[in-house]
Amino acid sequence: MARKYLIETFGCQMNVHDSERMAGLLDQAGYEPTDDQHDADVIVINTCSVREHAEDKLYTRLGELRVLGEETGRRPVVAVAGCVAQQEGAALLKNTNGGLIDIVLGTQRLKMLPLLVEQAAQAPFASVDISPMDDVSFPLGIAHRADPVRAYVTIIEGCNDYCAFCVVPYTRGHERMRAKADILADVAEAAATGHPEVQLLGQIVNHYQAPDDPACDFAQLLAEVHDIRGVERIRFASPHPRHTSDRLIAAMRDLPNVCNHMHLPVQSGSTRVLAAMRRRHTREEYLDLVAQIRKAIPDVTLSTDMIVGFPGETAADFDDTLSLVETVQYHSMFSFKYSVRPNTLASKRFVDEVDEAEKTRRIVALQALQRGIQARLNERAVGTTVEVLVDTAGRRRDAEVSGRTRGNAVVSFPVPDSGTDAATWVGRTVPVMIRRAGPHTLWGEAAPGALRQAGTDCA
Ligand code: SF4
Repeated sequence: MARKYLIETFGCQMNVHDSERMAGLLDQAGYEPTDDQHDADVIVINTCSVREHAEDKLYTRLGELRVLGEETGRRPVVAVAGCVAQQEGAALLKNTNGGLIDIVLGTQRLKMLPLLVEQAAQAPFASVDISPMDDVSFPLGIAHRADPVRAYVTIIEGCNDYCAFCVVPYTRGHERMRAKADILADVAEAAATGHPEVQLLGQIVNHYQAPDDPACDFAQLLAEVHDIRGVERIRFASPHPRHTSDRLIAAMRDLPNVCNHMHLPVQSGSTRVLAAMRRRHTREEYLDLVAQIRKAIPDVTLSTDMIVGFPGETAADFDDTLSLVETVQYHSMFSFKYSVRPNTLASKRFVDEVDEAEKTRRIVALQALQRGIQARLNERAVGTTVEVLVDTAGRRRDAEVSGRTRGNAVVSFPVPDSGTDAATWVGRTVPVMIRRAGPHTLWGEAAPGALRQAGTDCA
């Protein structure tokens, strides 16, 4: 009987895609996936250390696995991968357990996983492999893509920017560009295996410069991905404001399959705090950029990342954040309370001086403001017809499906023909008339003619 593996993923899309790659490597080595931890011979925890809270999840999960082992008497191979593994290395073994972890696998060593799992099954000692690797190639078609619709394609690994709060340059290493030929082959393979949407990933995705084609920047890469047969939607995450060029804005405007949504991290609305964060743009430059993007692409939707309580953030700085959010009118936002991350410049230069109660007060105020903005923006969609690429069947109710608009809004609606299985709608693009809106979701019904347009033979 084939041995089984379970991969649990914390963190960003980059981690989700790394997990898809590790799953593909284990498939190739003859393992089978399982969702049941009682059944797993190998458990991989792919970790995130970008916030303290995310890192804590690893330790909670390890505690649960210890209890599970004591209750069942089973002892799967346990591998800790991802950013916490890279950051802590061998210290993870000392800090956690007597012998619960068998493998510590760094962010640049994914390809070693099958070999280390084999060794762990025989050897009485744990392996730690966190050495850096410049090679960012990956075998074509190996990723076990978890999403039926969206294919993640990494184009850049690592980051050289060293924003003061950010642990990524320490956990993912220096910036390395993937060859354009590999990226295009990966996209073509994803489209040919039924993924109409491609999301290009990089820590600063718009800093891309092809190592195998000096003329190819990120805007050109978008154009070449756009030409690949079967690619209906292109998204990317995350661009940096200072690398958002006129060429990129023009590419978004002119290439119809590039979605009209941009996630544009700002982190603070205060120029003073942005300088302390080493973000290399001011509030004014950011707002100018937003105006430029909106002028070129009037229906663009914007989202962002925001940190509250960075060292030295005063009440006036926080008011600047609130006023920037009011001005920009983001369609969504990821907001976090600042937490000290190991090795970062902020951890060495500043004292974490905004107290926890004040950070909480600020994030509650920010999120309340943002919820109101989202509710108002979504309300405007009521009565319009939007194009929804269905990605999920029956999460809440059997006869309901959901998906995203090109602007990245989540829309739920009943399956247009009650005689069809909801799962058969996944991957179809359906025009949906919006009837109701909340801050996070729109609800509607398939517009007349949707059955034909979605390519079903039920019409
Ligand atoms: S640009 Fe800044 S926030 Fe983004 S990954 Fe690099 S260092 Fe971190």
